[in-house]
Amino acid sequence: MSNIKPEDFFKNVISHSKEYGFIFPSSEIYDGLGAVYDYGQLGAELKKNIRDYWWKAMVQMNENIVGIDAAIFMHPTTWKASGHVDAFNDPLIDNKDSKKRYRADVLIEEQVAKIEDKINKEVEKAAKRFENFDAAMFKSTNARVKEYQEKIDNINARFKTALNDNNLAEVKQIIVDLEIVCPISGTKNWTDVRQFNLMFSTSMGSVSEEGNTIYLRPETAQGIFVNYLNVQKTGRMKIPFGIAQTGKAFRNEIVARQFIFRMREFEQMEMQFFVKPGTEMEWYDYWKQARLKWHLSLGLGKEKYRFHDHLKLAHYANAAADIEHQFPFGFKELEGIHSRTDFDLKQHEQFSGKKLQYFDPELNQSYVPYVVETSVGLDRLFLSILSSALKEESLEGGDTRSVLSLPPALAPYKAAVFPLVKKDGLPELAESIMKELKFDFMMAYDEKDTVGKRYRRQDAIGTPFCITVDHQSLEDKTVTIRDRDTMKQERVAIDKLHSILSEKTSLQSLLKML
Ligand code: ATP
Repeated sequence: MSNIKPEDFFKNVISHSKEYGFIFPSSEIYDGLGAVYDYGQLGAELKKNIRDYWWKAMVQMNENIVGIDAAIFMHPTTWKASGHVDAFNDPLIDNKDSKKRYRADVLIEEQVAKIEDKINKEVEKAAKRFENFDAAMFKSTNARVKEYQEKIDNINARFKTALNDNNLAEVKQIIVDLEIVCPISGTKNWTDVRQFNLMFSTSMGSVSEEGNTIYLRPETAQGIFVNYLNVQKTGRMKIPFGIAQTGKAFRNEIVARQFIFRMREFEQMEMQFFVKPGTEMEWYDYWKQARLKWHLSLGLGKEKYRFHDHLKLAHYANAAADIEHQFPFGFKELEGIHSRTDFDLKQHEQFSGKKLQYFDPELNQSYVPYVVETSVGLDRLFLSILSSALKEESLEGGDTRSVLSLPPALAPYKAAVFPLVKKDGLPELAESIMKELKFDFMMAYDEKDTVGKRYRRQDAIGTPFCITVDHQSLEDKTVTIRDRDTMKQERVAIDKLHSILSEKTSLQSLLKML
């Protein structure tokens, strides 16, 4: 169906986003700012709808989860306690010829993925050759595949130890041993690996003195931890319970490419779930499955998601997995699910001198709860949805159309109303339909060009329904309603439009699948 070459597809996503007012480079008239983007008129709507769906699924649907909205600025000691001042670093490396900077860990991971690809190709080739092909048996007996697998295992083991020991010389050695070349210069002329702290800092108040340095939060989670007791007490929350939050986070990313996948200012949607120590693994499994189900409910394709269990655990975690999504540039992290133990609350107890415990009436004892967190980037989610929904379709008669098959509940406009012609009282009737529906639905109105062209414009921005008012409408109070995906038209009574749109475009239709 698609006429677009895979390598051009991602470029199309970016240009489509701009052309139709979803995403613009930040301060574009000054040539933009690295890895910072603005959401346009349609992007803001889509983003809001995604956020709403997450919020409703987390907060509204779960009586034991409440939502807060903490400030971006936090007391600087927060970031000492959380470990971000000392350990929120990425290992960076420069290529001396191209002067390009890379994340050393990403270079290694990508090289390992290339070797994994080779294994998969061998397996695919063999599967074509042999009937009753047994992949596991093939992997354990084929010499070449075994050699690749041993190489991967060896690199993964060295890499994990090097990262855990903060052994940057060994990280560099792995890059050398893997013979990784810079994609720009094609050379292996690397600098040493250095650590780089990703937090942005600024100063508060009018005098810039030592001591008033504050950070732009690199994650929203800490705003939840420092409010844990406030919420638990005032909300009379009983464990297990969760606190959810959406909001901006800032990271001075070393390599900020790939459009809104990795930005320096982005939005997170996080939920910290406070549990009894010892029950965290059950809840970790529960939230892994619940969050995957949420993503699958969007209907973008089951095959586009997979779990990736972490090799290296962050300093606060005893288990961690990513839900990865198949972006146009491959499978990458979309959401993290982390079992964070009691690390954060204990650290804040220690640094603040305040007790952050929970009195468990069933056990008749107090403890610091354990935490399982779900953390998803709203912008990454936006990109995953937009790029999965964008299609170039060939139509009968050699025509093509760009269609954004967004889940109807997330689409910026739920429906567009067109008078067939700009006369005979059709615009007046169309406007009265608009007036009625816009109390409950985001509606578009268009009377310019042919109806065919108007359909194309709405297809390209993902509007699930187009309602056309024609001469028959004046006589029998019916209109045609056209489905974006099937392009089928149906004649329906005007007074049925509200219930049709409610049924097909409300967030309820998604929430019911959870
Ligand atoms: P990555 O390995 O891609 O840098 P991370 O493991 O550091 O991500 P977390 O700290 O777990 O990410 O953050 C949770 C989520 O926030 C991620 O799954 C991602 O969706 C989102 N996120 C993190 N960094 C960025 C960024 N720079 N731009 C956009 N989204 C981000």
